[in-house]
Amino acid sequence: SYPARSVYKLKEMDKRFSLLKPGMKALDLGAAPGSWTLYAAERVGSKGVVVGVDLQETETKFPEQVRFFVDDVFEPRAGFLGALKEYAPFDIVLSDMAPKTTGNKFTDQARSMNLVEEALALAHNCLINGGNFVVKIFMGPDADAYRHELMQHFRSVKTFKPKSSRSESKEIFYVGLGFKGGQDA
Ligand code: SAM
Repeated sequence: SYPARSVYKLKEMDKRFSLLKPGMKALDLGAAPGSWTLYAAERVGSKGVVVGVDLQETETKFPEQVRFFVDDVFEPRAGFLGALKEYAPFDIVLSDMAPKTTGNKFTDQARSMNLVEEALALAHNCLINGGNFVVKIFMGPDADAYRHELMQHFRSVKTFKPKSSRSESKEIFYVGLGFKGGQDA
């Protein structure tokens, strides 16, 4: 079993877009409490690697192919940066990061945009050529511009809308397939 219900979203995207395979290296941004990390670890298996990072610590027990770091993607410290260096290029970058919501929709959307831009910057730096990118974004006026930005970096960009529970009804995922850039294997 998984520590958060949100695992179903990654499962569904994995089914639809064949994202995770044995032996892959995955980077999971906003990884706590650890459902996506755990699911990704199962899918990549013991020959793969999952590097997870979150502001929050987690109690989840991960298999040994997981490296989990408590850190802020905006101010990464040596441990997380070292793991990025060690394992890059990654086959896939996942971001389920979400800001603490304030209830002010302008503030929340602006914070969501900062997170997705940072996720894209990280993906840009450490994705393998042809790699994939999954990112959660709040629907809003900037989401479309961001999708266009993704289209410049990926061969195709899909939109995934999870079957919504009310509190999450504003979130969608963009899936960038086939990174145009980055290093070869
Ligand atoms: N995918 C996770 C799972 O399945 O267990 C759930 C992720 S939760 C919806 C969003 C996470 O993003 C929160 O745990 C939050 O701490 C994290 N987050 C938000 N801003 C962050 C930042 N600047 N750096 C790292 N993590 C961040």
